[in-house]
Amino acid sequence: MPELPEVESLRASLARTLVGRTCLSVEVREQRLRRRVDPVALGALVGRKFVAVGRRGKYLLIELSGQLLLLVHLGMSGSLTRRQSDLTPAGLSVRHDHLTLALDDGSRLVYNDPRRFGLVRLLSLGERDSAPELRILGAEPLEDRFNGGWLWRQARRRRAALKNLLMDQRIVAGIGNIYAAEILFCAAVRPTRRSSRLTREQAARIVEATKQVLQRSIGRGGTTFRNYLDGRGVPGRFAAELQVYGRAGKPCRRCRTPIGVARLGQRATFYCPKCQR
Ligand SMILES: [Zn+2]
Repeated sequence: MPELPEVESLRASLARTLVGRTCLSVEVREQRLRRRVDPVALGALVGRKFVAVGRRGKYLLIELSGQLLLLVHLGMSGSLTRRQSDLTPAGLSVRHDHLTLALDDGSRLVYNDPRRFGLVRLLSLGERDSAPELRILGAEPLEDRFNGGWLWRQARRRRAALKNLLMDQRIVAGIGNIYAAEILFCAAVRPTRRSSRLTREQAARIVEATKQVLQRSIGRGGTTFRNYLDGRGVPGRFAAELQVYGRAGKPCRRCRTPIGVARLGQRATFYCPKCQR
């Protein structure tokens, strides 16, 4: 499932290649995503030029001329790829190409999503701050507002397990199951620890680890799982650097203790029983 580093890598790639292009046509083949895609509304994209590509949490914010904002969330399995030919990239099935924008240089921008939990919605630029999807989002973890004192104050009044706190998009936007596990290993804090028991010192360590892990993954183009691809159709390289995620029973890279796995909510949670307290 794409998280902040994957979406940020995709954003940077689209910003380099998409800005300046014009959308010539829109084809919606499947309307049934997380919310129904509105082909009539998306028709407003025809003739518009791509102006900028931004990000908020796990959402891509694609700005077009005419004060339009295309909101894209990749859900569990979505990808947005720029294609120069009619061929569907390896690893993707043409059956799941739900939305295609033809561009003025002969390429296509294609939204593919086998599980269809993603979202594609056209807004006006003025709706950015009031859109229900964006309004509820919490702090951006790479911005200064996300600091140790702030996280400690958020955690102090909550009983949830620490990992669930980090994954709560209303508190911190962009972190999911993979990066929450990696961040807490890096900070040496147990994911099952109750938020209200977090010390100020641990909160500071978690914030530092968050910025470090996310930045590092962005630098590697993110992590590839299943069929996530970045805008050029190239997989990320962070998978090889994962310390705990998906490594149950394998030796901790720091202390050789077998990595443990706990259940939090419905999710498997990986941690080192010795390094993380
Ligand atoms: Zn360890």
